[in-house]
Amino acid sequence: MNHYQVAVIGGGISGVSFAQKAANQGLSTVVIEKNNQLGGCIETIVSSKAPSFWLEMGAHTVYNSYHHLIAYCQQNRTINHLQKRQKQPFKLMSKDGCITSILSELNLIRAGVGWPLFNLIKANDKTVSQYFSFLFGQRNYQETLQYCFNAVLCQKSQNFPAEFLFKKRQKNKAYPRSFTFKNGMQSLFCHLDSKEYDLKLDHECHKICYRNGLWHIQTSKEDFYSEKLLLATPWHITQALLAQINHPIATLHYQPKKSIIHTAGIILDKSQTSHIKPLAGIIGVEQDFYAMVSRDVIDHPDYRGFSIHFHDINTPIQTLITHFLAKLAIKKTAVIDIHHKQNIVPMYHAKHKTFLDALYQLLHKESQLYLSGNYFTRLAMEDCVRQSHQEYDRLITNLSYE
Ligand SMILES: Cc1cc2nc3c(=O)[nH]c(=O)nc-3n(C[C@H](O)[C@H](O)[C@H](O)COP(=O)(O)OP(=O)(O)OC[C@H]3O[C@@H](n4cnc5c(N)ncnc54)[C@H](O)[C@@H]3O)c2cc1C
Repeated sequence: MNHYQVAVIGGGISGVSFAQKAANQGLSTVVIEKNNQLGGCIETIVSSKAPSFWLEMGAHTVYNSYHHLIAYCQQNRTINHLQKRQKQPFKLMSKDGCITSILSELNLIRAGVGWPLFNLIKANDKTVSQYFSFLFGQRNYQETLQYCFNAVLCQKSQNFPAEFLFKKRQKNKAYPRSFTFKNGMQSLFCHLDSKEYDLKLDHECHKICYRNGLWHIQTSKEDFYSEKLLLATPWHITQALLAQINHPIATLHYQPKKSIIHTAGIILDKSQTSHIKPLAGIIGVEQDFYAMVSRDVIDHPDYRGFSIHFHDINTPIQTLITHFLAKLAIKKTAVIDIHHKQNIVPMYHAKHKTFLDALYQLLHKESQLYLSGNYFTRLAMEDCVRQSHQEYDRLITNLSYE
């Protein structure tokens, strides 16, 4: 029988960081993942057409203020493969397709008035639109900043609760300010070869139920039983699984909705793109994409890579890519390979705090059920790992009472 002390559904950073802790504690643990690889929103692609080159299809940057993520990397020694990101500018693509700098589009005097207030005026109960229009001026917000926030969140961000957008965290100066890993962000999952816990890839969980002191987990391939269960799936999946067991969390008010992103990863011949100066990315102003994230921060002698996060779901991806390449005057002959992926991130409700307070209240009554993901305090990987570590601590406390 597939019987474990701990089952984790979802093999993104939330699920894996929890599983690593549980397994290190000696608890028999299984990670159940529907895809054929771990990572979820973290996926680094490689191409046989571009040797020694990789490109991110999702998350791309770790900051030295990500203390929980760094602790996770130290524990599995991924930190030894850290690679500093080179400083490159983020640009804007304006309505008419021109590439400009962010600063040149802002009224700096008006923005400067708000800057000192940024740390003083709390964002509580305000939307991104309300808070940043007030701080930096309506025009700066409407014409420029809202697109920057859309790019950060990969969604239309005006109604997003401002207090969940940024968080000031202490920097750990032992590490570069921002970094990735030698083989990209997917390295975060490479240590799993060590088989500290069982890994069930290509297993999509369809149903959960709790009977006679055990979770019964039905997947597309086989069933599992566990004493404790962590759901580390995107919110809409977690909500649907909880609804099956009539859990009150499934019916809370102000639930996050989902933002679907169509990501195209394009590998380019560097020699044919010299007309585009090195950049960290491009933010779309009234474009069909939120942002393009470039690989230029880790220079490669032969190739460049652009990952474009499109929000338009009505136009075929090939057409979107063709338009994008035309806007940057990139010839077809420069394109070496193209990959496509769908990413999903949560869109928090303006009253997310109310949702969260109610969720925590219900969750803390549970001793068999644990939840993690990017729908708690923020979308960043750091917040996912932090939530998983907190849930792990709750698990250990509950076990000590049994
Ligand atoms: C384009 C993009 C860029 C980003 N850039 C950054 C960045 O630079 N820095 C940063 O800190 N954060 C970034 N983020 C945010 C961050 O990557 C995510 O919030 C985080 O990785 C989410 O991790 P997760 O494990 O909670 O969820 P996910 O990564 O969504 O993982 C959930 C997992 O559950 C699996 N699953 C779903 N349903 C089932 C089922 N029924 N049965 C089994 N498995 C299931 C999925 O396949 C997936 O693997 C970015 C996100 C995106 C989309």
